[in-house]
Amino acid sequence: MNELDSPADLRAALREISGNLWFSWLPRARHLFARLDPDRFAALDHNPTALLAELSDDELWARVDRELLERVRAELERERERRTWWERRDEDERFLVAYFSCEFGLDESLPIYSGGLGVLSGDHLKSASDLGVPLVALGLFYRNGYFRQVLDASGWQEERYPPNDPARLPLHEAGASVTVALPDEEDALVDVRVHVWRVQVGRISLFLLDTDVDGNPEWARSITDALYGGDRLHRIRQELVLGIGGVRALRALGLEPTVFHMNEGHSAFLQLERLRELVEDEHVAFEPALQRLRASTVFTTHTPVPAGNEIFDAWLVQRHVESLVERCGLTWDQFVAMGRTTPAESGFGLTPFALRTSTWANGVSELHGEVSREMWQAIWPERSVDDVPIGAVTNGVHSRTWIGGELERLLGAEEDMGTPDFARAYQLDDESLWAAHAAAKRRLFERLPPTFDPDALTLGFARRFATYKRADLILSDRERLAGLLADPERPLQIVLAGKAHPADEGGKALIQRIVEFARSSSAGGRVAFLEDYEMTLACDLVQGVDVWLNNPRRPLEASGTSGMKAALNGVVNCSILDGWWCEGYSEETGFAIGGDWVASNDADQDSADAAALFEVLEQQVIPAYYDDRARWLGLMRGSIAQLGARFNTNRMLVEYVESLYLPAHRDLLQQLQAA
Ligand SMILES: *Cc1c(COP(=O)(O)O)cnc(C)c1O
Repeated sequence: MNELDSPADLRAALREISGNLWFSWLPRARHLFARLDPDRFAALDHNPTALLAELSDDELWARVDRELLERVRAELERERERRTWWERRDEDERFLVAYFSCEFGLDESLPIYSGGLGVLSGDHLKSASDLGVPLVALGLFYRNGYFRQVLDASGWQEERYPPNDPARLPLHEAGASVTVALPDEEDALVDVRVHVWRVQVGRISLFLLDTDVDGNPEWARSITDALYGGDRLHRIRQELVLGIGGVRALRALGLEPTVFHMNEGHSAFLQLERLRELVEDEHVAFEPALQRLRASTVFTTHTPVPAGNEIFDAWLVQRHVESLVERCGLTWDQFVAMGRTTPAESGFGLTPFALRTSTWANGVSELHGEVSREMWQAIWPERSVDDVPIGAVTNGVHSRTWIGGELERLLGAEEDMGTPDFARAYQLDDESLWAAHAAAKRRLFERLPPTFDPDALTLGFARRFATYKRADLILSDRERLAGLLADPERPLQIVLAGKAHPADEGGKALIQRIVEFARSSSAGGRVAFLEDYEMTLACDLVQGVDVWLNNPRRPLEASGTSGMKAALNGVVNCSILDGWWCEGYSEETGFAIGGDWVASNDADQDSADAAALFEVLEQQVIPAYYDDRARWLGLMRGSIAQLGARFNTNRMLVEYVESLYLPAHRDLLQQLQAA
């Protein structure tokens, strides 16, 4: 390692750390930056690159904790040299996965994610780094990211779009740029230039595509402006840049992935470009080309909610890809049929298209796999539901990103991949376990009004304000709720957070109702809504509450991951038996709201679930917390040891590798040999 004899050396050493997202899951690295100027670091969304840009050489020289810096450098060195899980296997050297996603949640300071899908993608990359899996990722660089939420005086959500300045983010030049031909308003094809950035996520490179470059017309510059904003035209342009531009970026970078993973259908147009390459560039006949394409593609579907399974008007798709389709040797009718479940449909759906062009498909929990097989069965009319080729890999979370520092130190790390040794939870004595939790709770309580009591049972609920997540279920009986909040002996407290989609007036009204209730006298200062739910706030919440509440309308929560983050911190889940909780729940790990009964209409379901929610709170959760500390500690240990060990992305990635990536890779090689 270099000596640190001058401010320039010091800055270079710090830039090396800030330039790799490794800092986001090595707490000491974050701490190193926080100590430079805690207030400024927080004001800058905990962004190390931006902080370094603002501090002068003199300030750096005076403030850097050199001992800590040396420890972080040594830790990173060890991390780099560690022999990984993948290296200990003896696999084909050609194996490489290209992972496509329209959002990546890696750190608060890189706001190119909106919620669960993005956080999952980010955690996927972090685990690929931990395990050493050969993988590169592709996404979009949104100049205005996803919005930041501010509430006005009446509790109404307003959206702010602070610009993302590449110079103040850990973006590196990838050294490539590509073009994608898109029609302008007059239907003339314009070669849109796409710049490629690289974000380093430990061992993994994430390439972000950006159309805001000189030379592009205004409409093209704005394609990558924001995540989930704009109309259908804007959306299809983004998805063409991601899919087609993504494949071209890989080629420009000299990368030859053997497996393509579409994380949700947004990137599905990449299949069209790959097909074109095979047919037009490599002169493979259409049928074998399609076989090869399918063999080497993994597709993960993420939601049974219709809005999440994108459908475009056929004319809009035709206007954008007709010439590419021709070059694949396909007629328009043949192509458009691939985007439909049945010939009777009229649009072009990305999920059917993705399913029809991939041999390997999966949902994100066992239940979601089942629901997906039913949902998409019509694509395979000759098969029974059970034989529909959609499997399941249950989601996870990246444990080192989400675990609280106090608990992480208590558990220690497993040698192999540096993950916490979850099984040790059973050996921890009551006092240490409780003290670690109390410390995390104190950290969260710094964000809460002083009316909150750190000894009182605290429930957390944070998620996107999508209707099916029913953030207001607990408000459905205000009197009964007020009674629980006001109980002098065994009071309940509730913290909520979450953003509504900018176009979702209903979601915003819901937030406003919650804020109004929180301010009302019936809440008695025991309900709080925290603004701007993002990853740092999510960390504080999943580490610092006592119970994590989740009450989606079954079976619409495909997986859910925030409950997994809570569990590995010893925060006890209380949830509807939906998504991952069907697999995670037992009497040793938490509480179930109601059963697996599904009503014939939403209103009946909602009232039955609300009743079940109050019942479980009154009869199980509150008594266990206040009157049976031994049981509570048992639930905390069960959550950490059983759920933490299972619902993490290292386990998830091993499953992807063994049951999808490697079989896809081998399938492709076999086809190449046969050709
Ligand atoms: C984990 C996370 C989510 C996803 O949580 P769900 O339980 O799937 O709703 C959304 N937003 C943020 C900021 C997160 O950290």
